[in-house]
Amino acid sequence: MSEQAQEIRIAHGTAVSLELDRGETITITTPDGSQGGDFSFPGFDQAITRNKLGWKRFGRPWLVFAAEPGDSLFDGDGAPVLEMVAYEADGAADIMYPGCWDEVYADRRPGCRDLISSALGIDRSGITGMLSFFISSTADDKVYRGLGPVDLASGDHLKFRALRDVEVAVSACPDTGIPGWQAGDLVATVAGRAAAS
Ligand SMILES: [Zn+2]
Repeated sequence: MSEQAQEIRIAHGTAVSLELDRGETITITTPDGSQGGDFSFPGFDQAITRNKLGWKRFGRPWLVFAAEPGDSLFDGDGAPVLEMVAYEADGAADIMYPGCWDEVYADRRPGCRDLISSALGIDRSGITGMLSFFISSTADDKVYRGLGPVDLASGDHLKFRALRDVEVAVSACPDTGIPGWQAGDLVATVAGRAAAS
């Protein structure tokens, strides 16, 4: 094999950070169909990404709610940093929510923003974008209603390719109140690392 894969288990309510070299991929999988989480990287700009993808899909200055395979995630300069290359699961890769944080939980457990900022070694206030995966939602002209029911299956996953060297972080969300979710681990697999290194 010319390619070695690095596999990391992310326990429910924790996060990990991973260094990706340009060209490497990260696949995030729920082995038992239990739950999703959040994905981020330093400088990820959700608002720019929503707008760039709206232009791409509609040719107009509209916003989209979710990233799809073939879409990129952008930084604040509008530069593409990662490309989503696969999404195989119910729900979507939401780019509306900021991720959960400890204040939303009565027991003040660390939320995805706390976990991911800690994993990246940056202040929580420095998180500029989150991609929440395995999320269902509807919208009308008043409100975006997220965190609806999802039907997940063993092996559901999403995958990104790094378009430049980038540190990313993945959380296994501590929330147990989302319909269709239950506490479980995620697995992140990094592949495409140069065989010579
Ligand atoms: Zn969360």
